[in-house]
Amino acid sequence: MNRIERLASGLDDALLVTGLVNVRYLTGLESSNAAVLVEPDANATLYTDFRYAEAAADIDGVTFHRTPRAVVPALAELLSGRRIAVEASHLSLASADTLREGGVALVSTTGVVEALRAIKEPGELDAMRRAAAISDRVYEELAEQPFVGRTEAELAWWLEQAWHEAGADGPSFDAIVAFGENGARPHAKLRDVPIPEGTLVVVDAGCSVDGYASDCTRTFFTGQPEGRLREIYDLCLQAQLDALAAIHPGASGRDVDAASRVAIEAAGMGEKYGHGLGHGVGLDVHEEPNMRPESDAVLAVGNVVTVEPGIYLAGDVGVRIEDMVVVTEDGCERLTSVTKEPVVVG
Ligand code: ZN
Ligand code: ZN
Repeated sequence: MNRIERLASGLDDALLVTGLVNVRYLTGLESSNAAVLVEPDANATLYTDFRYAEAAADIDGVTFHRTPRAVVPALAELLSGRRIAVEASHLSLASADTLREGGVALVSTTGVVEALRAIKEPGELDAMRRAAAISDRVYEELAEQPFVGRTEAELAWWLEQAWHEAGADGPSFDAIVAFGENGARPHAKLRDVPIPEGTLVVVDAGCSVDGYASDCTRTFFTGQPEGRLREIYDLCLQAQLDALAAIHPGASGRDVDAASRVAIEAAGMGEKYGHGLGHGVGLDVHEEPNMRPESDAVLAVGNVVTVEPGIYLAGDVGVRIEDMVVVTEDGCERLTSVTKEPVVVG
């Protein structure tokens, strides 16, 4: 079964897919203005405007219907009198109003296409392996770069160029480079401040290959890996290894998250690890399934997730170590495999 057939096999009502990444997943069309209607019998109609018409007309397995620039008012007319399931996370309230006013009865759904996307096909895994291999190479090159005296922004720019030079399409998200107290902010903003000796530098970055993202974090030492910086580094690494060991098909996101907290809580630092363990990755950097304390996701073979515990000492330093892994029959396989031994940079 292809993706549209798999989606259709679970549908009661026709589903109007308006999430653009979901449209891309189902049809291959990359567009800023498109929707696809999938009927329970697996007939699918792709709606987009003139700018994407040529690409849309070339797609096999879907009927192309050209609309004016405003797709939703056109759909309101075309679907008038029907009952249609919509993606509540990807349809604005204004668009829902337009459809209802046109006489379309809406059924709210969430996460239907996302659930398919969470299980990667071999071709998707291949793209993610290539992205991860480029990530490994770029992190190895990064470790040879001078850090001390350069700014976070300079290193982020170095990374941006390195992705292109290594053959990626580009970065999958804006890189985080954060030393000292900035590293204690999980989503730190880049600063133009020179990196000093004797601190930790968190680097969280990824690239995109054929639309698929990589996501990896390493924390570097600009000084000897000893003392309290080494202690929190080792603690974070232990948490990460404990989480990797807990991953298997059938494990809940909640349980794997809990496994990552044991060592950090035993060290009295539970409060310093304030975010979830990890997230799914694919066409989006953040997708299903999630592993966090309130997660009800259950891991399955073919999920690609990140494993990224962190310890954040506000006003002082932070450490995070992140790998991207694929869930396998007997556990998981790391896709990012650059060393997690403490790395000293100059
Ligand atoms: Zn990351
Ligand atoms: Zn991540």
